[in-house]
Formats: sequence, C-alpha cells, structure tokens
Amino acid sequence: MNSRAIEFEPFEPGSVWLVGAGPGDPGLLTLRAAHALAQADVIVYDALVDEAVLAMARPGVMLHYAGKRGGKPSPKQRDISLALIEFARDGKRVLRLKGGDPFVFGRGGEEALALVAARIPFRVVPGISAGVGGLAHAGIPLTHRDVNHAVTFVTGHDASGTVPGTIDWPALSRGSPVIVLYMAMKHWPNIRGELLAAGRPGAEPVAFVCEATTARQRVLVTTLEASLDDLETSRIVPPAIVVVGDAVRLRAGLDWLGALSGAVLDPDPLGYRGQRQAG
Ligand code: SAH
Repeated sequence: MNSRAIEFEPFEPGSVWLVGAGPGDPGLLTLRAAHALAQADVIVYDALVDEAVLAMARPGVMLHYAGKRGGKPSPKQRDISLALIEFARDGKRVLRLKGGDPFVFGRGGEEALALVAARIPFRVVPGISAGVGGLAHAGIPLTHRDVNHAVTFVTGHDASGTVPGTIDWPALSRGSPVIVLYMAMKHWPNIRGELLAAGRPGAEPVAFVCEATTARQRVLVTTLEASLDDLETSRIVPPAIVVVGDAVRLRAGLDWLGALSGAVLDPDPLGYRGQRQAG
C-alpha cells in the first residue's frame, strides 16, 4: 500500500482532532486516524481505546487518560472538554481518541460543542463503531435481505446510569427486527424483560460479543429466554455488544474467524433448504 499517495491535511498546532479509534484491532483504524496518531503532541484517550492502538502513537507523545466506564454519571465530562481546550490553547496538536465512532454513544458531540464555544478549530474523523464492525468481525451481518430491512441502535443506559426511560420498547420491538444494544450488560435482565413483555419471542436468538475485534474477543449465542443463565456461565464481560434478532442465526454460516481455525460453516444457516424440502 502506498499511503503517501494520500494527501493528508496538516494537523495544525492549536487544533483538536476528534477521532474514532474503531472497536479495538489497530488494523481497523482509518488511515486518517493512523496519520493523526503519528502527528499528535497529546492524546486524550478513553478506557475503550485498545493499547495496541495507542502503541501506534508517535514516540514521546503525551498520553492523557480520560477514562470513565460503566454508566455512572460523569462529572468528569466537563473536565475532559476543558483539558482539550487548554491543550489546544497551549498550541498543541490535540488528538481526542474515542473507541468506535466518536459520534455513536460516545459524547463526541458534547465535546465538539465545547470546542465550538471556545472557538478551537477541530476536525471529526469517523471510526468503525463496535455495533457495526464488531458484529461483522463476529460473523453477524447487521442486515440480510431475508432477515431485516431495518436495524436499531440502542443504548442500555443513559446519563443517569439507568435504562433510558425514553425508549418505547413496544414500538422498538414491533418496528425493528434486529436490535443492537450498546452498554447493555449491566441492565440486561431489565432490558430482556422489556423485550419479552413487548412481545419478542423467548426463542429469539441473541448474541453477546465482548472485546470485539481484539485477540480477546468472545461470543455467546443464546436466546432471549436462556440468556440470563447462559451469561452466568459464560466469560462475557463488558464492554460487549448485544444483538437481538434472526441476523444472529447467520453466524452459523458466517463465522469466518472460527472457520480460519477449523470450524465448519453451515452454508444454509437460515434453514431454507430444509424448509423447501418440507414444503
Ligand atoms: N463510540 C463507541 C461506543 C461507546 S459506548 C462505538 O462507536 O463503538 C461504549 C459501549 O460500546 C460499550 O459498553 C460496548 O457496548 C460497546 N463497545 C465498544 N467497544 C467494544 C468492543 N471492542 N467490543 C464490544 N463492545 C464494545
């Protein structure tokens, strides 16, 4: 690859780049994110940014941890924005590195608005969101023509740390054949209850993908009904993406990663051939 063929815009001192680091695997960074890592004077990063990504930073770069985790109300958000502003006013090239995509359940918009208010020049660099790329990595397509024409991204908790009260579970359950949930582990018993009460069948497939795209990725495929028991005996821990819907069944045919280490894939994971014969 000749990435020098790409003319990257200069990372100006005194500016902030708000960059998505993708779900974990450094191979899934954008070229512009890699360029920013090589240029930045200071990197303000979250708990979700993988160490392998930080290892790509310029030697001698200042690393500033802005970690917060687990759905607690975060009084620190203001401090993070202030730190970005101060570093920029100090004439630094400030890389604000966030897991996944900065504008997907990542409060990137809030930080960017703080920069706008402080008149700091900034750029936004999208990243692969865990709920998209993490699932593809686990062999689960977000859409599949025979399964769904819509998909919904949901957060399992809001700023107060509880399941967002604004989610209309019956409408979501009726309208979205596939539901992808971020930050849903802590309140999964609650969320599962809402989905069942709203009419999603207990036998509906559910997958949990934790530490997606890293060497530590683990996947649990279960059903709404069995998910509580199965989670208890699994090694699934946050951060994890939860996906509900028939798209999960496709993993039996599309677990390309498993196939690379010998798993046998089912070319007919939705069971059409059987159905046709039966019909
Ligand atoms: N901006 C991020 C999401 C931040 S919210 C993005 O676009 O991906 C944090 C949640 O993202 C976690 O609770 C988890 O649900 C999900 N997440 C982030 N990275 C993940 C990973 N590598 N594997 C599984 N889930 C991940």
